[in-house]
Amino acid sequence: MIALLNATRTFWMMFMKMIVGPRTRTIVCSLSENENSLLFLANMGYPAEEASIAMERCGPEASFSELIDFMCAAQMAREEDVYLPEDEKPKLNSGGYKRKMYNELPVRKKQRAITDEEPIHLPRPMIGFGVPTESLPAIVQRTLPEQAIGPPFFYYENVALAPKGVWDTMSRFLYDVEPEFVDSKYFCATARKRGYIHNLPIEDRFPLLPLPPRTIHEAFPLTKKWWPSWDTRTKLNCLQTSIGSARLADRIRKAMKAMENFDGEPPLMVQKYVLDECRKWNLLWVGRNKASPLETDEFEMLMGFPRNHTRGGGISRTDRYKSLGNAFQVDTVAYHLSVLKDLYPNGINVLSLFSGIGGAEVALYRLGIPLNNVVSVEISEVNRNILRSWWEQTNQKGNLIDFNDIQQLNGDVLEQMIDSFGGFDLVIGGSPCNNLTGSNRVTRDGLEGKDSSLFYDYVRIVDLVKSIMSNRRV
Ligand code: SAH
Repeated sequence: MIALLNATRTFWMMFMKMIVGPRTRTIVCSLSENENSLLFLANMGYPAEEASIAMERCGPEASFSELIDFMCAAQMAREEDVYLPEDEKPKLNSGGYKRKMYNELPVRKKQRAITDEEPIHLPRPMIGFGVPTESLPAIVQRTLPEQAIGPPFFYYENVALAPKGVWDTMSRFLYDVEPEFVDSKYFCATARKRGYIHNLPIEDRFPLLPLPPRTIHEAFPLTKKWWPSWDTRTKLNCLQTSIGSARLADRIRKAMKAMENFDGEPPLMVQKYVLDECRKWNLLWVGRNKASPLETDEFEMLMGFPRNHTRGGGISRTDRYKSLGNAFQVDTVAYHLSVLKDLYPNGINVLSLFSGIGGAEVALYRLGIPLNNVVSVEISEVNRNILRSWWEQTNQKGNLIDFNDIQQLNGDVLEQMIDSFGGFDLVIGGSPCNNLTGSNRVTRDGLEGKDSSLFYDYVRIVDLVKSIMSNRRV
């Protein structure tokens, strides 16, 4: 058996030596999928021997990313091994030390299907009570529970795909108002599935104009030239708070480099790998065989913020991505808030909780609703600076008052503010989703998690505002 494996490997190595190099282009078309993949891995800079062992071990069905994972795991194991004392290193056996090490590496299993998310109530298409670009859903009217009727209006946002039961709980705590689930892909070129619990009227909404580009090519016309025919994406996936690790960037760079050797289409397996990574990391084709993550100003544009909104004041690129990845999609939220324009022609008082970089403020401003008093609560200094700087740049006539921590907002503080400017018209915010999102499995402990439990502070404050204001009316 071992002799047979060795013979196979020797064959592959000879084969790779023969074809890797300047002659690649001419030979490529006559190769099988497997051969092409091997060639591609070699072009990515993986040693031919490792590539052929990975193919042997992972089997003919293995995906390209499984092969790459396998080789990376082997590489990491080797790196760790360098630091092991001699007597702790695995002993050579009949197949040799390397052989043993490869054999012990687990082949990555298909990831377990996610079963603890909340697919039940999520409507398809995810257009809530309607979006400007699609025909209206069946329900365009709703009756709010008595205790939910405003003013004050409230608007609460969080990720649609939360663990089971989370939206039911949030709804129960927010006066039994059913969430409105909307995917921002109906507003812009990027998906963003969010739930909104609010007591705003839903008739006569209108969108911000001009309508933002709704496909990748409309948003980034220069990419059209480089877009491979096999990349069928027309929308980006939800923008995340980070843009990928250095290790991943390196893998993608290698894959792209290897693609330079293909005149025609790369093998299906490779296409799938590259496409999966493009989808996962929202990469754009910015040159021949060159896919790149979004720049921060592209993030801003997709999220509906003014260009350079998060730039300056010493903020790092990492922080810009983080804040933008957590923000509201402005066009989506503005569509829901548009009904306030007729209700408050003289402007509104806003209590903006967890305001981040000011998605709510930007949306109201772009709707042309004057911001008389905005009380903003945001723990990150970087974010507070961004909002304050936007406020100054846009020559707001009203007052911006900020608080650092939601815990500072108690009944006394709220009473004082309500007395000084006559109450809040809107309490808006989306609390952190760290413990709810699929991409964050380590700390995904649900609504009771450290950050996500701040939802209860949102409820506490809406309750207080409602009761203080109703007392003042009596
Ligand atoms: N809707 C916002 C972003 C919300 S993300 C926007 O459009 O930008 C949640 C925000 O809550 C983050 O900016 C985070 O810094 C902030 N936050 C977390 N803990 C907080 C606390 N204890 N008090 C106030 N803000 C907090």
